[in-house]
Amino acid sequence: MNVRHGATGRLRLRGCAAPLLAVLVAIVGAGCAEGRPESLLRVQTAEQIAARERSAAAEEGPAAPAAGTASSAAADDSGYKREATASDSGVPAADKPAGSGGTAPASAEPAAAGGDGAPAGRAAAAGGGGAPAGSAAAAGGDGAPAGAGSAPVAAPAAEPAAQAAAADTGARRPPKKPAFSIPVLNYHSIGVEPDNNAVLDPKKLEEQMAYLADNGYTTLTLGQFVDIWDGKAEAPDKAVLLTFDDGYADNYTEAMPILAKHGFRATMFVSPGMVGQDGYYADWDQIRAMRDAGWDIQPHGMTHPYLHKLPAEEQRKEIAGSIEALKRETGIDAVAFCYPYGMRNKETLKLLAEYGVRFAFTIDQGKTEPSQQPLQLKRLFVGGKDSLQTFVKKLQ
Ligand SMILES: [Zn+2]
Repeated sequence: MNVRHGATGRLRLRGCAAPLLAVLVAIVGAGCAEGRPESLLRVQTAEQIAARERSAAAEEGPAAPAAGTASSAAADDSGYKREATASDSGVPAADKPAGSGGTAPASAEPAAAGGDGAPAGRAAAAGGGGAPAGSAAAAGGDGAPAGAGSAPVAAPAAEPAAQAAAADTGARRPPKKPAFSIPVLNYHSIGVEPDNNAVLDPKKLEEQMAYLADNGYTTLTLGQFVDIWDGKAEAPDKAVLLTFDDGYADNYTEAMPILAKHGFRATMFVSPGMVGQDGYYADWDQIRAMRDAGWDIQPHGMTHPYLHKLPAEEQRKEIAGSIEALKRETGIDAVAFCYPYGMRNKETLKLLAEYGVRFAFTIDQGKTEPSQQPLQLKRLFVGGKDSLQTFVKKLQ
């Protein structure tokens, strides 16, 4: 296939990458600037796009394991709050043009204040694990909101009992082990672009897949994942779900052959509005070929928007449109959705439920466990700058 890695493509890709880092907690994510309608891209200068990409990379960066280890108990309620946090501060920070001197992206986030959000993001990405910013955000997102929301009410009356319970739990009971804990790895583009943390070198992917194969990992199909979730099947000792966001043509040309060598399965999330665009995104023939090769294909919004910023009816069009286009072009029913940039709000979740989507993946960092809300599942970002050692660490 004709995959173009020209300037335009790269620029766009970086943009896409951008989303990941940002957030951490809030997470941002996975999103990709590429998701932007072509018309928007065309009116931006290369510099603007590059700036966006830099910030995007920051966003996409690994949101740090810290977020992943955060308690998921509060996810249900605080998940929304995390979002709010993200939209109010995280996203803008991630989206802001990094030192571009006022070349705000089309979606012009308020933030841009400090000219240089990118470096921080990249640092976090490079660190692959300890991103201070990410940890801080994570703490605030998971812990703070929950505490603020419920503690004041319950604490005064129930304090003695709570303390007793805590003491009891802490002293005598080992932490409850979840029925399963599955690393859902989050990939984007597979190509050679060393400065872009959202693009993974095919050689590294090769190395990672070989590691999984050599160490007895089973790559789950989406159907197997659902059965495990529903308790109809037991999770293999070492199970992993490979997910690829955005539907890049290089997932077809590069990733598919590498996975095929090991008989591995994966799930790709596509935005139908971008399918086939410029040869940069896989076209429907390629997507159908991936389906036939055993890949699961699922929706990622029609045009890869920031869903939480859209009015309900626009969100509906994005969600329903991507589900319908996927069905029309591939015959596949939507079971799992992936939030562009990891962003969502209550309306988003409501709409997904309305359309029968049972699971949705965020870019909140962590393994997927049964305590999480099925429409707010965590994943683990795999960065282009991750060493094999970092990759291995993320699996554990
Ligand atoms: Zn995306």
